[in-house]
Amino acid sequence: MNILLTNKCNRNCPYCFARERISFENGESTKHKAPTNISLPDFQKAIAFAKKSRLREIGLLGGEPSMHPQFMDLLHHAWEEGFRTKVFTNALWRTDLLEEVKKASQKYVKQMGFIVNMNEPTRSPDGEHERQYNLFRAVPGGCSLSFNISVTDFDATFLVDVIRKFGIRKDIRLGVAQPLADMPNEHVAVADYHRMAPSLMRLAEACDAHDVRFGFDCGFTLCMFTPEEVGRLVLAGARFKSSCGPAIDVGTDLSLWACFPLSTFASGQRLEDFEDHRHITRYFEKEYEQLYRTGVLDECMECRWRKRRQCNGGCAAHVYRRFNP
Ligand code: SF4
Ligand code: SF4
Repeated sequence: MNILLTNKCNRNCPYCFARERISFENGESTKHKAPTNISLPDFQKAIAFAKKSRLREIGLLGGEPSMHPQFMDLLHHAWEEGFRTKVFTNALWRTDLLEEVKKASQKYVKQMGFIVNMNEPTRSPDGEHERQYNLFRAVPGGCSLSFNISVTDFDATFLVDVIRKFGIRKDIRLGVAQPLADMPNEHVAVADYHRMAPSLMRLAEACDAHDVRFGFDCGFTLCMFTPEEVGRLVLAGARFKSSCGPAIDVGTDLSLWACFPLSTFASGQRLEDFEDHRHITRYFEKEYEQLYRTGVLDECMECRWRKRRQCNGGCAAHVYRRFNP
């Protein structure tokens, strides 16, 4: 379960798949109106719900979560309630926050997880990486890296250099940018995923050479790799999965949606309408059953890997766009 702290963002990545819920500093506005920031009482309600659901880890999202004016208060509340926090951040933080989080790390570093989304150097504005490094210097033991793929040819090996330079956690989350049901963004068509494989294998080799673990987030497909590449990924220690299903995001007004790309279909469900996290998951699984099961390629229908649930057949948002071009 993820809680959206704010719908503001101070970056504007071309692949952003939270676009429908986010307002950017350059003046674009959200399609779905909701408070800019979650209130402290609503955040406490969401944490109490997660506790009742017996969750031990909570994802904190934005926009850019650190833009919430009470960011540290929210983190402290989650830590004091015993949660591990996974904060999905761009690390472009105010200096005072860096000091505060450094101080807090003395007590809570084991509960901290800042998953810093880095873009390729050639696709980042001047000075952006330097600013991100400040968080690594402040809490190296609390940071790991994330990289979103939105083009077929990329070089993500710089991530391994960053990990080695700053001594941060040896772990990389790989995401693949998904389309939005009703808005444009930069993403790769599923039929072209195999063209990403050579760049991914270069990253796998760099990770393997320096004992860096890497894992695949939802939406990747099994047939994007050759059998030989799958073997090399396994030997490099990759956590490969081809999955798609409700992530459960809680908005700043405690409304719910299954995940950002499907958020356009949200129809007013709220946290207090459900008993616990399992019930929300079941609700969305049923609601989007067809989208989750169909597969995006013609071949998916008869694919034995889909039938055996080794592959989900790509992101449900791609499936929706396939049938609603
Ligand atoms: S289910 Fe579809 S996307 Fe997955 S491996 Fe089979 S054909 Fe490829
Ligand atoms: S629809 Fe599925 S694959 Fe796409 S973002 Fe949501 S959970 Fe991930």
